[in-house]
Amino acid sequence: MAIAKRIVLLGAPGVGKGTQAKQLEKTFGWVHISTGDLLREAVRTGTELGQKASHYMEKGELVPDDLIIAMIEEQFQNGKCESGFILDGFPRTEVQAQKLDDLLSRQGTSLDAVVSIEVPEEEIVRRLSQRLTCKQGHVFPEDSNHKLGDPCPVCGTPLDRRKDDTPETVRHRLEVYKKETQSLIAYYQTQSILKPVDGLGSYETIFKRILEVLGFASGLV
Ligand code: AMP
Repeated sequence: MAIAKRIVLLGAPGVGKGTQAKQLEKTFGWVHISTGDLLREAVRTGTELGQKASHYMEKGELVPDDLIIAMIEEQFQNGKCESGFILDGFPRTEVQAQKLDDLLSRQGTSLDAVVSIEVPEEEIVRRLSQRLTCKQGHVFPEDSNHKLGDPCPVCGTPLDRRKDDTPETVRHRLEVYKKETQSLIAYYQTQSILKPVDGLGSYETIFKRILEVLGFASGLV
């Protein structure tokens, strides 16, 4: 099997896409593009995009496709994705998936794999209700070692709870995921590039499973 370099990580909020994407970026040097992180940064710095996106995000709704697609096109403009990328949180609708296919085909490429990380819903709600994260997007469970306001063990910025990680908004985001994003599984199944991965277990175990479905011999990395 060819070594995959252009990858989408698919999965509900809280399945660990960001953690796995960061590990893939660290291991292979592929660019990690998280639309959620880009949007949170836009909100923090008060850009026009941030102002338009913030109320959707706070309610757990999807930001309109045209805004997201413009943001992604910008990411692909400067050639930084040529040596590979991992998309995390994008695409989330069929329109976005089609636009991504168009964008890649204009560049003479296509996706190598769509890794779908699968975790039962009750586990997702449990994880998100105790998720702490820093400005850089490092994620930790709230426990005796990691408390709200503590410095992030990786970068030192304070650990905080995301505004959209309240139980009510989490439930709504999962509904939105089921309604909007789950249809992408069929979309990518038809293209024969969907790679389901069991998302239960330690992050190292899940990383190994991802390497296997991407065609890397386990133990290689
Ligand atoms: P995430 O960090 O991926 O959970 O994204 C946080 C929020 O950003 C989502 O609940 C949406 O409001 C918005 N968002 C992120 N990515 C997208 C996308 N591809 N399409 C629409 N909205 C998005």
